Amino acid sequence: MTVETRADIRLTQLHIDGEFVDASNAATFEVFNPATGALLARVAEGGAEDVERAVAAARSAGQIWGEMDVFERLRLLRRAADLLRQRSEELALVESLDSGKPLSETRTYPDLTAECLEYFGEVARFARSHVVPTPSGFLNYTLRQPFGVVGAIIPWNFPLPFCGAKCGPILAAGNTVVLKPAEQTPLSALLFAEACRDAGLPDGVVNVVPGMGPTAGRAIVEHPNVAMISFTGSTDVGREIGSEAGRRLKPVVLELGGKAPNIVFADAQLDQAATTALYMVAYNQGQVCSAGTRLLVERSIHDEFIDRVVTQARTARVGDPLDPDTQIGAVISPVQLQRIQDYVEVGRQEGAELVAGGSTPAVPGHDEGWYYQPTIFRGVESRMRIAQEEIFGPVLSVLPFENEEEAVRIANDVMYGLSAAIWTRDVSRAHRLAERIEAGIVFVNTMNDGRGLGSPFGGWKQSGIGLENGLEGFLACTRLKTVILNLDAPTPTL
Ligand code: NAP
Ligand code: MG
Repeated sequence: MTVETRADIRLTQLHIDGEFVDASNAATFEVFNPATGALLARVAEGGAEDVERAVAAARSAGQIWGEMDVFERLRLLRRAADLLRQRSEELALVESLDSGKPLSETRTYPDLTAECLEYFGEVARFARSHVVPTPSGFLNYTLRQPFGVVGAIIPWNFPLPFCGAKCGPILAAGNTVVLKPAEQTPLSALLFAEACRDAGLPDGVVNVVPGMGPTAGRAIVEHPNVAMISFTGSTDVGREIGSEAGRRLKPVVLELGGKAPNIVFADAQLDQAATTALYMVAYNQGQVCSAGTRLLVERSIHDEFIDRVVTQARTARVGDPLDPDTQIGAVISPVQLQRIQDYVEVGRQEGAELVAGGSTPAVPGHDEGWYYQPTIFRGVESRMRIAQEEIFGPVLSVLPFENEEEAVRIANDVMYGLSAAIWTRDVSRAHRLAERIEAGIVFVNTMNDGRGLGSPFGGWKQSGIGLENGLEGFLACTRLKTVILNLDAPTPTL
């Protein structure tokens, strides 16, 4: 087996109670570089016992963190944000090696992650309770309080940004966290934990337990002292976690899969629409939950529009993630690569027409890496599996539509409802469709751009429960208490 030598991976142990430690049974698992297929690191594999230790540490740290002045918490979160920025080169390189993402992309992550800590720290500072009108003589107000220990379980497609997106609101609200990164990409979470510790967050506030979903992940979900679960991942695992949590009456935020429609009308700005259409399956190798993987095109421009997208797909540069010219890096794993290949075969058998890609490209010097070309199917019908199921790779399914009514019908004809986009110059139509499409976020004349940390984000239908980002995302990490004080009301008598 080839062993990666380009990076010296410093942190490979669990992070519990402010220390980097081995798993209690000394277990480890292997982590690979998707760009080369080489072994990158052996990482401590946490199990139920380690989760037990992490939860105990988080619980006792909660007494300090949860009661700390909100301004002091903000100060520490800001310091952690500064350290993430100072360490951005190491973070970006480790993230790229671990995930196969172009370095040009991962270089943006430390700042994005830092912003999450700062933003939610500020939200906590400004989030107000309210006073409720009551009969005279009473004062009724509400308090927003932390849950205590929150379990965060994240996927591999944006490893470091999800550390920020999860831990930002969890920590700012005064909770402590036990975080399980994905088994494919555990490394940046450990660097994140180190930055939090070095910034002065008390030991036990941020615990990271790399490991497997069915063991470490499950132990977090089932632990009686984990009061809430914030999960991002597939709909199948989300259902499992949701039902486990339901049996324990544990609140959950579940950010799950998608099969988003990207709808292009004939009156749209077609250059921009075509560039974005390809970007949806090329960016991050198509491994994006909210990507417009179903391209719906109005019949009158259908053929011409596909030609534009196909032309761009043929010139997209798939290659070494560390090469600055690379636009599309490696997919996460051989399992994922096989899944993509299987879906392409399914598409062919279902009768869709392959018009771009459909194979693995040659990447010189990286013969053992896991790459796939941007791939486009036309003639896709909504009933086909490649129009219904999340592939999570660079595969675009194009479906024609006749009119607005049919566009809406096809757009809503999936179990998911995460995001959608509409391309049109007709403002009234944009409003009409934005209302009628079943999705948690709808873009007009853009897709997946223009979202800030303030934009609440959450899936409809089988794409999830609850919200992230914005004030709503912060509030989801708090529990509300009503307090009623008798000021000078007479006490009721029998
Ligand atoms: P996944 O297989 O669902 O895994 C997500 C996380 O859950 C991983 O850490 C995984 O551990 C863990 N896990 C697996 N089984 C578990 C169990 N029984 N109990 C507790 N934890 C368990 O998802 P993925 O393949 O990593 O990521 C891709 C999926 O995430 C796609 O469906 C994508 O749409 C979705 N996603 C959604 C959003 C959103 O915001 N809505 C954003 C990004 C991605 P292992 O690593 O060991 O499997
Ligand atoms: Mg990896």
